[in-house]
Amino acid sequence: MLSAEIIAIGSELLTPTKTDTNSLWLTEKLNEIGIEVKLKTIVGDDELRLEETIKDALKRSDIVITSGGLGPTEDDITRQVSAKAVGRELVFYEELMKELAERFRRWGREMPEINKRQAFVIEGAKVLPNPNGSAAGMLIEIENKFFVILPGPPRELKPMFETCVLPKLREKAGKVFVKRRVLRVTGIGESAVDEQIAPVYKSYAAVQTSILFNRSEVEIHLSAQSNSETEAEKILEELAEKLVKKLGIAVFAINGETMEEVVGKLLVENGKTLAVAESCTGGLIGERLTEVSGSSAYFIEGVTAYANEAKIRTLNVSRMLIEEHGAVSAEVAEAMAKGMRERAKTDYAISVTGVAGPGGGTMEKPVGLVFIGYSDKIETKSIKINLPGDRYLIRWRASQFALDFLRRKVLKKVESKSN
Ligand code: AMP
Ligand code: MG
Repeated sequence: MLSAEIIAIGSELLTPTKTDTNSLWLTEKLNEIGIEVKLKTIVGDDELRLEETIKDALKRSDIVITSGGLGPTEDDITRQVSAKAVGRELVFYEELMKELAERFRRWGREMPEINKRQAFVIEGAKVLPNPNGSAAGMLIEIENKFFVILPGPPRELKPMFETCVLPKLREKAGKVFVKRRVLRVTGIGESAVDEQIAPVYKSYAAVQTSILFNRSEVEIHLSAQSNSETEAEKILEELAEKLVKKLGIAVFAINGETMEEVVGKLLVENGKTLAVAESCTGGLIGERLTEVSGSSAYFIEGVTAYANEAKIRTLNVSRMLIEEHGAVSAEVAEAMAKGMRERAKTDYAISVTGVAGPGGGTMEKPVGLVFIGYSDKIETKSIKINLPGDRYLIRWRASQFALDFLRRKVLKKVESKSN
């Protein structure tokens, strides 16, 4: 497998206000054709450090790609520093000069003297035309290695890379296909997931597996490589199937879908409708559900019943119940879900009531205590959870738990019906 490295050039990229996005985009493109990015560097407009970085990169990597620093101003040093790093001269390229002058003429402007710098290229480099800007790129082959110099603005870099560089790299990389897949798992921790599935994925040498924890779930990232596209897909499919078999219902997505997409699909497939009564999540579940296009087919109504009075007035929760058990309780969560379902006349309703913090916690009902309610025509249930995290995370995780609770309930019903 070929190794690549990316050097993002520009002092602005070392400030908190400007992010290097070029390297992310380039990494995606390189990965797609089976080239692994081993290192990324951000270098300011500093001649010495840039020269060192380019020299080191060319020693250790098959492909080195720089972005930025090709402008006409004093701080744009990539051209001359790259030439120095590879021990070649900069040569004046008449054609490029003409194009630059023409470009300025088209804008009705006189070409400033300093733009002449952009007509110099490294000896022996293939010039990469830039239809979207004044800075041409360069591609230099040195001892079987590729050194690619691209302009900084993403709208110039992307088309240049796709048209002039990608075909050459694809040829160099040979026929390698990389296919990716993300499985998402709820209700089990990262290490427990790994413990269960490591023996399975370790037997797949052609698949790179990584397990990471997201806000509220574990993600299993699979990346398969093969010289045949269908083969790569087949390997992924086979491994994904085995992982689902190991982890069961805890796997909610096998193609990177979000929880709201999965729940939506499940409701559509079964022709069911949903309403949501929210307290501490303040409408987050409704917001997530309605982010999915087509959600009007199943999502009927959402209520944010924050105050006790609202729970009583809108969801028909009894005042006595709240006085007896408190608003954050299994009883009230269930009453909210039931009241919501009856009000909206849906097949299902879910509810959330909890303490999102940071204030408002007590010994008996600490911050992070959340009750999720569920109601259908036959039963009304609730679960109690204790969520870690700050206010943002507690609210997010509560929304995820509620949607997952519904997902599991619906799946059980579907299963028992088909049995
Ligand atoms: P330069 O080629 O260094 O003159 O950069 C021109 C412009 O391209 C900069 O002002 C940035 O807005 C943008 N740019 C440069 N490098 C990057 C990068 N790595 N990621 C995203 N934008 C960049
Ligand atoms: Mg710059």
